[in-house]
Amino acid sequence: MRIVEQIEDLNLPLGQRVGFVPTMGAFHEGHLQLMRRAKESTGYSVVSLFVNPLQFGQGEDFDRYPRNLSLDSEMAESVDVDVLFVPSVSAIYPNRLSTHILVPQVSDRWEGEHRPGHFDGVATIVAKLLNIVRPDVAFFGRKDYQQCAVIQRMVADLNIKTSISIEPTVREPDGLALSSRNRYLNQEERQAAPRIYIALNECRESILTGQPVDAVLNHGISYLKESGFAVDYLAYVSDDTLEPMESMKVGTTLVCAAKIGSTRLIDNVQVA
Ligand code: AMP
Repeated sequence: MRIVEQIEDLNLPLGQRVGFVPTMGAFHEGHLQLMRRAKESTGYSVVSLFVNPLQFGQGEDFDRYPRNLSLDSEMAESVDVDVLFVPSVSAIYPNRLSTHILVPQVSDRWEGEHRPGHFDGVATIVAKLLNIVRPDVAFFGRKDYQQCAVIQRMVADLNIKTSISIEPTVREPDGLALSSRNRYLNQEERQAAPRIYIALNECRESILTGQPVDAVLNHGISYLKESGFAVDYLAYVSDDTLEPMESMKVGTTLVCAAKIGSTRLIDNVQVA
């Protein structure tokens, strides 16, 4: 595995299909799954590790975001990554950035509302990385459901040639979605954390059996509050528009963001 810091040192092999996984490091099995898929489906995997300041808001965890390059390199090496691209902030943003990519509509609600500017930062860095690496396929986790929608829309709108592959959410045995932020949880919070997934599944069952969506969501929110969460949102949305749905339809997902202690967790389950 090559570890590359400078854009001009990437030197990707000509005529070789390339699979790309953009990440912010602090690798876990969710990241490794994407790396394996990238290698399997193209034969050559490039992983970027860049904690992107542009997608963190004021008071978010940019400074304390977990960073451990030597452990991350070992993990990437263990799944046969070909290139680990670890640019510095100044390599990616050498000048004040004038151009930003905004993906309104799909960005507006949910995470967009609770983290203003977040998806502008995500879309801008992903567009830059796709231009730098020019992969055939880029891999993203369904765990970040709205992020997937934003990237798919951006790639379609801007005629970016990379295909986007969305991979399933990898979970702990108790259902908690793997996340680099899970390491912030203390023991008590860790015990409560799988209740987000439990709530999502209970809501899913109730919606599928025809119960009124409003009542189902209110019940889910109460359950999470009783479990010690501060709920940012629990919503039933259309996969096309990310708008809230009032009754059961095909192409829909339940999305949730909730804070336990000082850690904010997000998760989602497909309904139909
Ligand atoms: P991050 O390093 O958090 O920016 O994540 C890098 C990529 O890994 C994104 O496409 C995430 O959606 C994906 N990812 C994070 N957690 C999981 C998970 N539990 N299962 C699958 N993919 C994940």
